[in-house]
Amino acid sequence: MGLKIYKFGGASVRDAAGVRNVAAIIERCAGEELYVVVSAMGKMTNAFEALLEKYMQSSDYESDMQYVQRFHLEICEELFPSHHAVFAELERYFVQIENLLEQNRSQSYSFVYDQLVVFGELLSTTIVSQYLAWAGVENTWLDAREIIRTSADYREGKVDWALTCSNLQQVRAEGMCVIQGFIGSDENYFSTTLGREGSDYTGAILAYCLDAESLTIWKDVAGVLNADPRYFEETHLLQKISYEEAIELAYYGASIIHPKTLQPLQRKKIPLYVRSFEREELPGSVITEGAAIEPLVPCFIVKKGQTVVRVATKDFSFIDEEILQKIFDNLSKNKLKVNLMQISAISVLLCVEDKYSLLATALKDFEENFVVQKYGSCSLYTIRHGAANSAEQIERSGEVLIHQQNGNTLQLVIQA
Ligand code: ASP
Ligand code: MG
Repeated sequence: MGLKIYKFGGASVRDAAGVRNVAAIIERCAGEELYVVVSAMGKMTNAFEALLEKYMQSSDYESDMQYVQRFHLEICEELFPSHHAVFAELERYFVQIENLLEQNRSQSYSFVYDQLVVFGELLSTTIVSQYLAWAGVENTWLDAREIIRTSADYREGKVDWALTCSNLQQVRAEGMCVIQGFIGSDENYFSTTLGREGSDYTGAILAYCLDAESLTIWKDVAGVLNADPRYFEETHLLQKISYEEAIELAYYGASIIHPKTLQPLQRKKIPLYVRSFEREELPGSVITEGAAIEPLVPCFIVKKGQTVVRVATKDFSFIDEEILQKIFDNLSKNKLKVNLMQISAISVLLCVEDKYSLLATALKDFEENFVVQKYGSCSLYTIRHGAANSAEQIERSGEVLIHQQNGNTLQLVIQA
């Protein structure tokens, strides 16, 4: 049997019961070659972010520090006898964190972020690895900072694939390994991170470099659904999805797997399983080569918080390349993300996302040269593989401002 990669996110190890459950899943692979990627426990990355916020503002962060320490200690108190070596290891990390914050002189938020936040993953993997060993599952704990090498773009390290792959070939430990997701290091061995939710990506990097047989991402959902259950009553599990389809769905805003995770897997045709850590008996979904989706049902994706801006020429001149260039210069200057656009003779409809609260500035700029109308609180719906009547209910939910069909993708912008 070939090597497998398992990735467990924060929700799977949010408490002692979670760690026991994860260990039980892993135990079933005892004797096999398995790399286990683990994220920070529960919401610990957010907790470190909150601590950092205060630290950078020179506010008192003692209570945040206490919170992080207590959180891990309490989990360990439930899992281990009081004399267990894991407590000394936790203490060692706590001291490292305190030293880091005392000795740091850098003002760079992103740099300090990466030096600090990695402790979430270091702590979680230490606990999981020790718990496995204590439960009789032999394993090797690996430090991802010695393996996953990246650029010095803190908070969004770009992977040095050649170096990372050669590191992985060298350490290639037999049996079971436990390693942190999300983290790496730059050429000076300063810690780096791969962007929020980056542990899935770590799983893909390992799978790619080690020519793994498969990557399994264990989640708190049954698999990949055709629609977000928060917005749609009826949902179906997608048993099979092609890499291309998964990338498309992610592009339109489905919160499945980040495209960055899919590309390395696609290149080596490594299947990605998405399974429930709460209900191991369920088959889950697999992203692999083949047909777009099975079963072939319409997929619904919603992006809330959109604004539609209609930009029309003042003198009724036609929209041409020069005008479009002007429009896009303004959009890019104000970091507005255009999710959909429709051009007609004398106007352009733009469905934009105002991520950096710069829309008002952009509108002022537009008003100098154009007639501008703004429609707030819109939602962008994307339907893939829809039937003739798939959009009916959505269309009734408000005023349809944009309706665009492109092959098997229908997009609607609705003002509620
Ligand atoms: N712990 C990191 C985060 O919460 C990475 C991950 O969970 O994938 O973003
Ligand atoms: Mg996480």
